Amino acid sequence: MTGPIIARTRAELLAAHGGSSVSFVPTMGALHDGHLQLLEHARPLGETLVASIFVNPTQFAPDEDFDAYPRTFDADLDVCARAGVDVVFAPSVPTMYPAGPGDSISVDPGPLGTVLEGSARPTHFRGVLTVVAKLFGLVRPDVAVFGEKDYQQLTLIRHLSRELALGVDIVGCPTVREPDGLAMSSRNRYLSEDDRKRAAYVSAALRAGVSAGPRGAESVLVAAAAVLETAGINPDYLVVTDPDLGPARPGAEARLLVAARVGTPRLLDNTSLTLGA
Ligand code: AMP
Repeated sequence: MTGPIIARTRAELLAAHGGSSVSFVPTMGALHDGHLQLLEHARPLGETLVASIFVNPTQFAPDEDFDAYPRTFDADLDVCARAGVDVVFAPSVPTMYPAGPGDSISVDPGPLGTVLEGSARPTHFRGVLTVVAKLFGLVRPDVAVFGEKDYQQLTLIRHLSRELALGVDIVGCPTVREPDGLAMSSRNRYLSEDDRKRAAYVSAALRAGVSAGPRGAESVLVAAAAVLETAGINPDYLVVTDPDLGPARPGAEARLLVAARVGTPRLLDNTSLTLGA
């Protein structure tokens, strides 16, 4: 098995993909089976598959875990090789932020960036959309694949590509879960043994919400909240929205989203569901 080419700059990227159509999976590394699924999904969508590994400083607030974020580059290269990645783009901070992480130009995520995750992390989506816009400018992909696990991020990136006319097709990929339902995440490794058991209740709450869907949004929230309470989990938010994160409508497709701190890590999860009329 020949490994992927490692590119650190736009010139190296260009030399590696040489004008072919490109499918792209941006990541912060510490790759797990969720990322692998994204890479496998992206593989047939372009002639060249590019994965980026960049822990983006601007999406972490000063009191968050940027320094402690897991960095496992050699293991990540093995995952990329297994998934048939052609090019791993691993830029330096100065390549991504020529004027430093306080660059004067950034992407305003608009009102959707201030709710849910954005209300707990007010600078987060500005950092995410800015780095994704830069990565799109450097990699010039035709298609980019993101996980539904970070549903608000996926929704905002769809808006970014459409509203800034970036011309990148955004594809969402279903959440990959542990056998007990916990959504895979690079931060799950920080769960203590006890908290790891409690963490399974987050996805169990979503399943209870889905079952209550035919009875309407209020019943969904009551059913999901009851499961969280069993495990002593107090969510930062638990909401039902429409698929674009606007107000939910009876008798239509909807999204149930939850965020909760379980021990140290903050866990995010969500699911689609259908609401009764
Ligand atoms: P990250 O490295 O955590 O920034 O995530 C990179 C990409 O992987 C994002 O599009 C995430 O939504 C996606 N991702 C992370 N965890 C999962 C998962 N469990 N299932 C599917 N996609 C995921």
